[in-house]
Amino acid sequence: MKDPNCIFCKIANGEIPAATVYEDDDFRVILDLGPASKGHALILPKEHAANLFELPDEIAAKALVVAKKVGKQLFDGLGCDGFNLVQNNGEAAGQTVFHFHMHLIPRYKGDTVNVGWKPGELTEETKAQVLGIFGK
Ligand code: AMP
Ligand code: ZN
Repeated sequence: MKDPNCIFCKIANGEIPAATVYEDDDFRVILDLGPASKGHALILPKEHAANLFELPDEIAAKALVVAKKVGKQLFDGLGCDGFNLVQNNGEAAGQTVFHFHMHLIPRYKGDTVNVGWKPGELTEETKAQVLGIFGK
């Protein structure tokens, strides 16, 4: 399914041009227009899914294989020192385009990219609550 109001549906399916580094039957990988670092790419499924929960399992599995393949090419080609795979779900998590995508963010020693967090503390109360969700 494509969503006629979704910009990433249009880009993924070639209706709006984008700098494409990889394409197959299910995905298009493009360069991010507001890159966090040199080579920042977005992995877009061609079928619309607003977020990870809507993504079919088969496409979810393939997405990681595409990340591995394209990530390796970026890594080798750009000579980067590492990379982050980032996938935001929901506004609270920083998602701004509601068509599932994965960010491939090349990292360079000493860069100022910020995808980190300040570690908190796992309390006994929280641990019990979360384990309880899983019946543990
Ligand atoms: P997110 O915040 O995870 O939803 O990420 C959306 C990303 O899409 C941001 O990094 C934007 O810079 C990027 N973006 C938005 N519109 C375009 C576009 N037309 N072409 C390429 N990247 C885009
Ligand atoms: Zn879409």
